[in-house]
Amino acid sequence: MAELEGLEFGKSDFVLLDEVNMEQFMENLKLRFEKARIYTFIGEVVVSVNPYKQMDIYGKEAIDAYRGRELYENPPHLYAVADAAYKAMKRRAKDTCIVISGESGAGKTEASKYIMQYIAAITNPSQRAEVESVKNVLLKSNCVLEAFGNAKTNRNDNSSRFGKYMDINFNFNGDPTGGHINNYLLEKVRLLRGGSEEMLGSLHLQKDPVNYVYTREGAASTFYNTRIMNCVSATPQGNLQFETDSESVQVVGSEAVSHIAGLTTTEPDNVTKSLLYRTVATGGGEVIEKGHTEKEACFGRDAFAKALYERLFCWIVARINAVIEVKDYNPVLHGKNTVIGVLDIYGFEIFDNNSFEQFCINYCNEKLQQLFIELILRQEQDEYQREGITWRHIDYFNNQIIVDLVEQPHKGIISVLDEACLTVGKVTDTICLESMDAKLGQHPHYTSRKLTPSDKTMEFHRDFRIRHYAGDVTYSVEGFLDKNKDPLFQDFKRLMYNSSNPVLKEMWPDGQLSITEVTKRPLTAATLFKNSIVALVDKLGCKEPYYVRCIKPNEMKSPVLFDDARCQHQVAYLGLLENVRVRRAGFAYRQPYARFLQRYKMTCEYTWPNHLMETDREAVEAIVTQHGFQDDVAYGHTKLFVRTPRSLFTLEQERAALI
Ligand code: ADP
Ligand code: MG
Repeated sequence: MAELEGLEFGKSDFVLLDEVNMEQFMENLKLRFEKARIYTFIGEVVVSVNPYKQMDIYGKEAIDAYRGRELYENPPHLYAVADAAYKAMKRRAKDTCIVISGESGAGKTEASKYIMQYIAAITNPSQRAEVESVKNVLLKSNCVLEAFGNAKTNRNDNSSRFGKYMDINFNFNGDPTGGHINNYLLEKVRLLRGGSEEMLGSLHLQKDPVNYVYTREGAASTFYNTRIMNCVSATPQGNLQFETDSESVQVVGSEAVSHIAGLTTTEPDNVTKSLLYRTVATGGGEVIEKGHTEKEACFGRDAFAKALYERLFCWIVARINAVIEVKDYNPVLHGKNTVIGVLDIYGFEIFDNNSFEQFCINYCNEKLQQLFIELILRQEQDEYQREGITWRHIDYFNNQIIVDLVEQPHKGIISVLDEACLTVGKVTDTICLESMDAKLGQHPHYTSRKLTPSDKTMEFHRDFRIRHYAGDVTYSVEGFLDKNKDPLFQDFKRLMYNSSNPVLKEMWPDGQLSITEVTKRPLTAATLFKNSIVALVDKLGCKEPYYVRCIKPNEMKSPVLFDDARCQHQVAYLGLLENVRVRRAGFAYRQPYARFLQRYKMTCEYTWPNHLMETDREAVEAIVTQHGFQDDVAYGHTKLFVRTPRSLFTLEQERAALI
């Protein structure tokens, strides 16, 4: 609970709103943004609004103010959350995690950097060289990933097109010993559009001090891969074209092919062959070569470019992990190895046109929301138990039903998609949609245009809609199947596996399979994504969670514009009102007796200037009774719990009148 700042800055904690509704929430958010208060609590959650200007709130002074303090002792800040996570890890040996979500450009990556910097600043006070070097590598590894994984999109100059989860390991001293990075769904399509920026980013990397991360692994291969990336990025932008003459498809010119062959150390003839033919196994087990149509060739080329980029990216992540992993760990010497995880992940996305990517992202957010509710409730329950307060049931919307709609085996949307992808023969997006309608038409959170022909906002036989916890989203099924399939022909994989560059070869182990060995049922993109999200949720589920919810105030990157409609959408998608409700369902406000006394003792004759009672708790009881809200509170072992904020305002008003 935040210290109650002057109310001219709005309420520093949304649980203190008079009523929980959108109007009051937005009013408070806007007021605080205008007063340059970019952070606001919801209990222990920090809501952040991107200021789009440099704020003087991250310096050494701020770090000192938050270090080792309790959440409610300072105004809301990322540092308050970082410190809470760190304290829980160090004092109670708990694994913790900080989940940072919000849409593209909302400030997630900046927030994760400030959090990492804070943790770096408060650890290793004795400046031991080996710890400093670990910290350095951990901080720098972020820059490397940003350089490779980012693309300039129209929504954000430096948008991370992947979700990133980083574990930081600590020894019993609370000093970092290493870490590990996981990345999720690199959005290949958009990355490739940013080709020239990629190239710049990659080239900068060569001058960057983090280069030593690679020198251990061999700078030469990195430089090589950087150049491959450049080449790949440029490929779909028109360097490699096809033409059809008298029935057969040809590559236009030979330059592009020799360029690719040169960079991947493969034979130009083999490159051409992979681009124009595909090996297929017939029903009788015979292996034949089948020429592509021009359209298939283009499709194959693009899939190849994307896959190359993706594998290079994963390779880089793996190399970084090899460098930052905890080494020589000895539990006897080093004590329990505890972890703080930092998750930087896109929030709910709703565009004018929503496709497979939004479907995946929004499913991920349903999972995270479910975890959030579960963990927040558990946290509340734990605190009530610690304080000896009777637990009362809290009513909330359980979104399990939506999660099931997407992921349930045999019945869910992903399973229908997978079935369609694995069916031999021509299955179109539309046919797939029909089978979704047949299986899910009755589901309360699923609607199809076909089932509601009167709905003009959806397109007949193209769209379906999911009622997400954060609102309705209409998805266009067009392209779903292609995006879900592994679109890369085995021929490209074999081409890369046969490269004489050992690093490239290492990236394509599946290239050694012959066409008859290739598994008949490869995992689809949706299933792979689902598996990685399930694993992520498992990882987060056993940690004590802290949350940062980021909001982008406008589309213009303006520091002074608060776009009401846009912000309101994000508040809805982030489920913030529900968050406040859950938080208030039990007790909105809680504070240790001594702190409560210190603030309000002047409002009661028995406690001013000092009370003569045996315990602080009795003195607090005297204040509460004098103001007549004894039915609105519960007395814990160390804290006072107040159900509704109104009681507190009475006190605040009285206090204000006296000072
Ligand atoms: P996201 O990761 O959510 O897509 P970023 O963290 O990359 O968004 O933020 C986008 C841009 O917004 C940054 O490049 C920076 O210019 C600005 N920004 C975000 N957070 C802050 C902040 N706390 N202070 C100043 N500028 C910020
Ligand atoms: Mg980002």
